[in-house]
Amino acid sequence: ELLIETKQLQKKYVTDTVETTALAGVDLRIAKGEFVAIMGPSGCGKSTLLNILGLLDSPSGGMFKFQGEDITHASERQRAKIRKHNLGFVFQSFNLIDELTVEENIALPLAYLGVSKAETEKRVTEAMERMGIAHRRNHFPQQLSGGQQQRAAIARATVSSPSLILADEPTGNLDSVHGREVMALLTELNEAGTTVVMVTHSPSDAEYAHRIVNLFDGQIVTENLNVRKHAAE
Ligand code: ADP
Ligand code: ADP
Repeated sequence: ELLIETKQLQKKYVTDTVETTALAGVDLRIAKGEFVAIMGPSGCGKSTLLNILGLLDSPSGGMFKFQGEDITHASERQRAKIRKHNLGFVFQSFNLIDELTVEENIALPLAYLGVSKAETEKRVTEAMERMGIAHRRNHFPQQLSGGQQQRAAIARATVSSPSLILADEPTGNLDSVHGREVMALLTELNEAGTTVVMVTHSPSDAEYAHRIVNLFDGQIVTENLNVRKHAAE
């Protein structure tokens, strides 16, 4: 069953004087439960693609279906609704809110969904425990190590049980030990059924994916199945 399907997806950025083609016809199909890594040199369109797949931006051309629904021309309001219910984001720089505690940060997506206080308490505690940061619930982000901040960010991204997690260089600001820890947590979430799409420069992080999609100049140039990962399953 497909979660994502794009056909000839295009994105052009137009400023006063220049037009940049960031995506030049991307055909991508991602099944539910897959773990896909997107790789390629700087400027090849990775972030643009992730932003469109994450419904943060809309394409300039082509077709984009999410969970079978054609949302190529969805309004910002419709995209926001789908994001809120189905998506979780993990960023290189964690993007936690400094003025809120770990627990308050993780509760935010549930507040947007209007989840009750008791249910929020329960789900936030579960998410913190799964990520091993329950002992830091009352700390502020700046009081945590990078690894702890990213674990808090993953707890926030998953507290609403999204069908898709989009991760942009999730280990980019971490040392290798904490990077591997974050990849192991993303793998655990994937094995529990969540689809993961991750942009990465790191070949060792890409090893955690089922499939590696290589972009160059806004197009998919190669796709590799991760033989080791498939063999292991
Ligand atoms: P990557 O993530 O692979 O580094 P991006 O998706 O950020 O690539 O960028 C793809 C191309 O689109 C680049 O040429 C970049 O300069 C351009 N680009 C990205 N965002 C914008 C923007 N908001 N306005 C204009 N050009 C942009
Ligand atoms: P870092 O990301 O900086 O390695 P950790 O959270 O892994 O931080 O570890 C910080 C301290 O918290 C360590 O002493 C560790 O043993 C302890 N710790 C880690 N996870 C838990 C947990 N789930 N419950 C209680 N203590 C923990």
